[in-house]
Amino acid sequence: MSFMQPSPVKYACSCGILNPINKLFFCRHCPKLRCGFCVCHEIESHFCSNCLENIPSSEARHKKNCCANCFDCPCCQHTLSARATTVPVVRKTEEPKEGESGAAEVTAAPSPKPSAMPTTKKMYYLSCLSCRWTTRDVGIPDQGVATGTWPDKECLYQVRFNTLMEYYQTVVLQEKQEKQEFLRRKAPKQHKFPSLTDRTGLTVSLIRRQIGWTEKSMPKPKTVHITSAEASADVEPLSADIFTQPLNLRNITTIAQRHSQPADQPTAVSRLYPQRRSLWIKRSLRCRQCEHNLIKPEYHPTSIKYRIQLFARCHVPEVVMVRCEQPLQAGQSNAILLKFTNPTMYDMTISLLDAPPPDAEVNADAFQQACRIKEEAITSSPLLKSSGVTLARQNSTREVKREVKEVTNATIVPLESEFVLNQRDDSKEFDEDVQAPIEEPKFIVWRKGNKVLLRLQFSPAAELQPGNNVTLGFCMQYTYVNTVSNTPDKEPTTHALYSRIFIHAGDIVN
Ligand SMILES: [Zn+2]
Ligand SMILES: [Zn+2]
Ligand SMILES: [Zn+2]
Ligand SMILES: [Zn+2]
Repeated sequence: MSFMQPSPVKYACSCGILNPINKLFFCRHCPKLRCGFCVCHEIESHFCSNCLENIPSSEARHKKNCCANCFDCPCCQHTLSARATTVPVVRKTEEPKEGESGAAEVTAAPSPKPSAMPTTKKMYYLSCLSCRWTTRDVGIPDQGVATGTWPDKECLYQVRFNTLMEYYQTVVLQEKQEKQEFLRRKAPKQHKFPSLTDRTGLTVSLIRRQIGWTEKSMPKPKTVHITSAEASADVEPLSADIFTQPLNLRNITTIAQRHSQPADQPTAVSRLYPQRRSLWIKRSLRCRQCEHNLIKPEYHPTSIKYRIQLFARCHVPEVVMVRCEQPLQAGQSNAILLKFTNPTMYDMTISLLDAPPPDAEVNADAFQQACRIKEEAITSSPLLKSSGVTLARQNSTREVKREVKEVTNATIVPLESEFVLNQRDDSKEFDEDVQAPIEEPKFIVWRKGNKVLLRLQFSPAAELQPGNNVTLGFCMQYTYVNTVSNTPDKEPTTHALYSRIFIHAGDIVN
């Protein structure tokens, strides 16, 4: 199984989407598999991937999600680096005197007289170490300092963008004020006296009304007038030589280069301009059902570690397809070798079933019901209702159950018995004493540490044609020891969990 190839073994997420195990997460609180669609994606921090500077989100928004100091090459999107160069400085010393001109001028002029003033100055330009593009190519003057002074290319429509943004900001503000006013009118009067801790400024108007003064009107949002854009028929005429001059493709920008400069999208390479580097984010993932964090990275950009990492491959037994014993033929019984690995610190008892256990569905439904009740409790809380606040975070959502669409076209022979997958013990690899052979079920080919290779018999459906893909499906039931538990005594609890697994065994041979 190559690293670059897609895995033939897929796990069904609790929502019904199939994924290889390395793309799945495991919620210990639910406890269920979760895929990228079953989690809320939240931005933990913004940072620049080049200078690793951490940028607060408000500042990132202000800087349009770009780093202030780093630039990308407009040609190849590689990072530009500042290069120092010494340039001779034109000295503003006194001109040679009139009387000295003549024969002396020929010798004196090329080698200026030694002076106390420096004759060279350090200047910087940006250069791409990948494609050799420099800021000098497009005529950007060298700068005296390496960072911070590079001119920004003003967008042609910047003024219009700013006006539009200002307009929509006032619209939002007005809507917000109207909503607040509406809620204030609608909310039942809870106290006879207005609360003094009210910070919305509505108390003042309430008191004014009680006294009988005229109500001070809300500050009116100022109106912004925008002239609508109009199509115009006069465009620049094409120059005549466009039909006669041969086209030099080296001077024309590529699509990627144009898209990296979306404001003007230049067609000529001479108009490429260094682009500020986009910021990267660190993401944290949250289970949509129980709102617990599944992935939480360390805040600092230099760290690649996680504070919480509930990857499925750290909790769910990993199944790897090794090979089929014989070439696949329709209707002929065959056997597949599967390697199971236990990633946890506890022994697991595994059984392979050809259908999910009946009580598993019932448990899942009960859990879903509990979630629904909790969710309704959240959304119907009077505090949220009265304030009209919508949580910025996505609320826990109902789990939409999809049917797993994958069709299996082979029947498996269930294993005679369940088997134990030993706990992961990294120090065991160095043990020298050989384990006494223990009686193993017949289907186990070998066992070492936390790994077991087993032989599963199956037969592809008889009606399959040569070239058809054979898909095996089974339900793996495994015991999982949960160290986080909601019970007060904090004792680890053991669950019997199951995952549906689908394996693309290969194609029917001719
Ligand atoms: Zn899912
Ligand atoms: Zn940077
Ligand atoms: Zn480049
Ligand atoms: Zn959860």
